[in-house]
Amino acid sequence: MQEETKELRRNLDFLPGSKQVYSLVDYVAGWARKYSIWPIHFVTGCCSPEFMQTMGSEYDMERLGVLPFASVRQCDCIMVVGVVSRKMALRVKYLYEQMGEPKYVVSIGACPTGKGPFYDSYAAVAVDEYVPVDVYIPGCPPRPEAIIHGVMLLQEKIRKERRIGVRNA
Ligand code: SF4
Repeated sequence: MQEETKELRRNLDFLPGSKQVYSLVDYVAGWARKYSIWPIHFVTGCCSPEFMQTMGSEYDMERLGVLPFASVRQCDCIMVVGVVSRKMALRVKYLYEQMGEPKYVVSIGACPTGKGPFYDSYAAVAVDEYVPVDVYIPGCPPRPEAIIHGVMLLQEKIRKERRIGVRNA
């Protein structure tokens, strides 16, 4: 649990009904965060046309509240799309460390998940060797429907999180 959350708990714990307040705030915050995922662009391989398609008018991932953004300081998610080399993995980690909490990582495609067709390459790596991955989306490349399904799994995970502390305590 983060320091600010602990501090908030210390200040609110003596109030009658504080647990209900935590639950309500958690619910509202979880709902809002679920529909406002801002992933940073991180496209490194040939899965990218499928990812672009999910942002296009036919699949329109923006209707789920997903808005790819170009500034790491405002983003709360990295979608790693395609093969990651050993050199590039260090950049993924660098970007991940610049993001504020809470932050999430989605591995899109067989390559970032487990090297895919480059399983015996000296250069390809699985991205979870460098950053913690929340959702893995299989496929080479994954279809837009699979990417949308993965995003919905991430949304479900975000909705169930308890940041104020009642269930994590
Ligand atoms: S998973 Fe397949 S489509 Fe995606 S980057 Fe790797 S080889 Fe290309």
